[in-house]
Amino acid sequence: MANDAGAVFDVVILGGGSGGYACALRAAELGMRVVLVEKGKLGGTCLHNGCIPTKALLHAGEVADQTRESEQFGVKSTFDGIDIAAVHAYKDGVISRLFKGLTGLIASRKITVVEGAGKLVSPTAVEVNGQRYEGRHVVLATGSVPKSLPGLEIDGNRVINSDHALVLDRVPQSAVVLGGGVIGVEFASAWKSFGVDVTIVEALPHLVALEDEASSKLLERAFRRRGIKFELGARFSGVEYTDAGVRVSLENGKRIEAELLLVAVGRGPVSAGLGYEEVGVAMDRGYVLVDEYCATNVPTISAVGDLIPTLQLAHVGFGEGILVAERIAGLNPVPIDYAGVPRVTYCDPEVASVGLTEAQAVERYGSDKLASISYSLGGNGKSQILKTTGQVKVVSVKDGPVVGIHMVGARMGELTSEAQLIYNWEALPAEVAQLIHPHPTQSEALGEAHLALAGKPLHVHD
Ligand SMILES: Cc1cc2nc3c(=O)[nH]c(=O)nc-3n(C[C@H](O)[C@H](O)[C@H](O)COP(=O)(O)OP(=O)(O)OC[C@H]3O[C@@H](n4cnc5c(N)ncnc54)[C@H](O)[C@@H]3O)c2cc1C
Repeated sequence: MANDAGAVFDVVILGGGSGGYACALRAAELGMRVVLVEKGKLGGTCLHNGCIPTKALLHAGEVADQTRESEQFGVKSTFDGIDIAAVHAYKDGVISRLFKGLTGLIASRKITVVEGAGKLVSPTAVEVNGQRYEGRHVVLATGSVPKSLPGLEIDGNRVINSDHALVLDRVPQSAVVLGGGVIGVEFASAWKSFGVDVTIVEALPHLVALEDEASSKLLERAFRRRGIKFELGARFSGVEYTDAGVRVSLENGKRIEAELLLVAVGRGPVSAGLGYEEVGVAMDRGYVLVDEYCATNVPTISAVGDLIPTLQLAHVGFGEGILVAERIAGLNPVPIDYAGVPRVTYCDPEVASVGLTEAQAVERYGSDKLASISYSLGGNGKSQILKTTGQVKVVSVKDGPVVGIHMVGARMGELTSEAQLIYNWEALPAEVAQLIHPHPTQSEALGEAHLALAGKPLHVHD
């Protein structure tokens, strides 16, 4: 624990998650004196309760499915079940190695880390454990926590949130997942792979409703094939305890019995009682409001990550943290184009996208100005080898750039690296069609979609 209270820093950062620590690293790299205040563990939600542990569970689930299905590939194996303690040991091993690396990195950049719950006490100061840390700038990065619905109490046992689900010491027989957004479908997918009888309840008409509708429909089809049940357009009305677990009631009159209910209805900002309003920071429903440079209305205060109303993604937090560090260092960073940020839902099959959905593109450009192509993974050699199905859909302006790429299938998240270059560099389909993709890879599906959009389809039936 640091004892630099009284010193004036260039920047005081409140919260050491993705947004806060990225800001700290970049600011230190730019020669600033940085203090980073964290009440829990450096790395925040992403490392300890979010991205990393969920992806470890999903990977364990993938190994389970591959073991069950290995005969399809001519490999004999027997699936004997899930040893959840061993799954947690594997997951925790990943987290602890990354945590050690991050802690070492932060120490190596000479960032002062203060352990404890901090509070904003002036436009230039944060108080922690009764000590005041002054900075020329303050960055608020206190992140988010799981939300619930009014009257729906999370007991941590039968009615749980994602934090509890990540440390659950048993594989439940059955579960209802309330919320068919990213977090809900990822847990539903991992649990199904572990052998859980899963039902998702979603009030909107589709799973992952923020994605292109075609992607949602493909995911729904794939989930149906996997035996993951879902109720769409169905509003939750209540939950009661039963001998075996819970009974979940929906407004449409349906009741679903299960061992537990996972509430995955979104995350809300951590800002209450932290002094933000008292210091005059403009807020809206708990979120800190910022401009395109992540500056608040108080000139010395910036805010990043899940605390501000932008996409709740770790890499967005990284980007915003870097942007703030560069701005206060006097560099001229470019604002983030949020539509150009890749989005991946790591369920099986993966759903990945960048840019506008077709509906958003129609709203912006008009349907007569757009072209769109969907290339089925059925025509892609590597996808056949992996036995995955899905598609790559590309939306472009006619005689103009690509404005949206939407992919469903195993490992599609990896293709967002190329997709984001195409979108963010405003590539024309003909320019991408010019590029030769390696064979046999799934990236060829992206190449094929652009060949077709450029008017020279290769492996496409008439
Ligand atoms: C289950 C789940 C899966 C996810 N999967 C992905 C994924 O695959 N990819 C992806 O990009 N994103 C994913 N996310 C989202 C991602 O984790 C968040 O967007 C990201 O962690 C936000 O970073 P942040 O720095 O804004 O906040 P956080 O990571 O929440 O960090 C905020 C930090 O501030 C600290 N803090 C709060 N108040 C105080 C205080 N008063 N004093 C001191 N410290 C304080 C907290 O302890 C915390 O460490 C997932 C989230 C969840 C819950």
